[in-house]
Amino acid sequence: MMPAGADPARPFDRPLVPWKANAALAGTGIIILLMLTLVGYTQWEMRQEAWLRAEQTSQNVLRSVAAHIDTQAQVIGFALDVTANGIAAMDARNSPSDAAHDLVSDIARKAGLVGVVLVLDADGSVRVDSEQHPARVANLGTQDYFTVHQSNPASKDYLSQPVFFEHDKGEPSFVLSRRLTSQDGTFRGVIVLGIPLRFVADILRSVELGPDGNIMLISAKGIIYAESKGARWGGTGADVSSTVLFQTLTSKPDGMFVDDSQRPASLVSFSRVGGTQMILAATMSVESILIDWWRRTAIIGVLSLVVCAALGVFAVLLHRELLRRVAAEFRLGQLSITDGLTGLANRRHFDERLRLEWRRAARTGAPLALLFIDADHFKALNDVFGHAKGDEVLKSVAGCIAISIRRPGDLAARFGGEEFAVILPDTGSEAALGLAQTIRARIEDLRFAGVTRPVTVSIGIKAMRPAPDIAVSTLLEAADKALYQAKAAGRNRVILSD
Ligand code: GH3
Ligand code: MG
Ligand code: MG
Repeated sequence: MMPAGADPARPFDRPLVPWKANAALAGTGIIILLMLTLVGYTQWEMRQEAWLRAEQTSQNVLRSVAAHIDTQAQVIGFALDVTANGIAAMDARNSPSDAAHDLVSDIARKAGLVGVVLVLDADGSVRVDSEQHPARVANLGTQDYFTVHQSNPASKDYLSQPVFFEHDKGEPSFVLSRRLTSQDGTFRGVIVLGIPLRFVADILRSVELGPDGNIMLISAKGIIYAESKGARWGGTGADVSSTVLFQTLTSKPDGMFVDDSQRPASLVSFSRVGGTQMILAATMSVESILIDWWRRTAIIGVLSLVVCAALGVFAVLLHRELLRRVAAEFRLGQLSITDGLTGLANRRHFDERLRLEWRRAARTGAPLALLFIDADHFKALNDVFGHAKGDEVLKSVAGCIAISIRRPGDLAARFGGEEFAVILPDTGSEAALGLAQTIRARIEDLRFAGVTRPVTVSIGIKAMRPAPDIAVSTLLEAADKALYQAKAAGRNRVILSD
């Protein structure tokens, strides 16, 4: 609270920072934090959504391509059946060879993925050719799709690795082949269906997987047969068997994972093609999946940071302004209760405090002491050394009084002119007397440049136990009377009223 402290220039405490100002600042901080948390959470959710959408797209595309290939596989199977049955029937009837050519060229034309249809003799030479009649002069007897049937009467339909037919101009084809067996079980040759990789690549390209999406058909040994982003016939022929990607692709029949073993990282979903060991894999770069999200996050992030920063700056400015105002009010309040010359409490404040302490002591039964301090022969000092010197002396006298009182409840005041008063709550006669002597001695020890005689004070003391039915003027008058006695007794002394 109040009271004259040790330093007469700054006798009072600092203003208390109003808790509301701090609460407003803390509240704004919490709001900013909540806002950022909300934005962060929303963005995280949106990222999850973007990711989920990409996963679904990737899987849908894969499923769609697989379904397409499956349908085509059935068509091809049907074409093989029709060719096998047709050739068997024609052979039984010894039909002319151009009829067989008509049959197979018709099938090659109509069966979607089928490029060329050949019927090979038991020695591997081409007997019927969908592309020319008479058939091309060629022997394919060393090819795996022939020997596999030649050597095994129970051989099933066989799907080869991509091979190059002479006329294919560098475009590879899968070959689906079936053994032709006569009724007595002897080997009569092989039916060959060429399925150009280009046609497969067209299926891969028929679905949309975003700007940098890719769909690949990869062999069980890790060769890329076809990809939607590849060359015209769709195959790069690249060997990916040693990559992390391929190891994961072969670790299970189907699935989805993020391949960050190469840049850019990509989301990969994959499955097997029909009954084969070939792998269908769809890839999308992680960057393309999240690019829209990043863009939105950047905008929202910057905007929220700007808003939060503005809010923060506003709150800090407001807080500072509040503190400034509180400090100004406090200073004004201090000024209104402070004596301008000495920095001690002024007369008005003295009166208020004395009444307050009187009432308090009357309630608690504690003693209350009052000191009246009057500079001796001050008029003469003014007259001889000047009013300015007199002011300087008054300030020093006030300083002596201020440093002499120690308790927080004590109050030193300028009563008026060259008179001072000290209120000492909870203080009895003896303690008050001791303090008065300290003050008197301190002042006597003061020295002032150009002042030849010592500055002294006379002090009157009254200490008593206030009671509700006693007026405070009793205390004042008694202390004043004691002061008068001190003056009369020769000054520079302390008189304790009894
Ligand atoms: P006594 O020992 O009986 O107290 O004599 P005194 O001269 O101190 O008493 P008196 O009441 O006759 O004179 C008080 C003087 O104090 C009058 C005035 O010039 C001086 N005085 C009062 N206020 C101030 C002030 O603010 N500054 C200065 N320099 N002098 C003051
Ligand atoms: Mg006086
Ligand atoms: Mg005087």
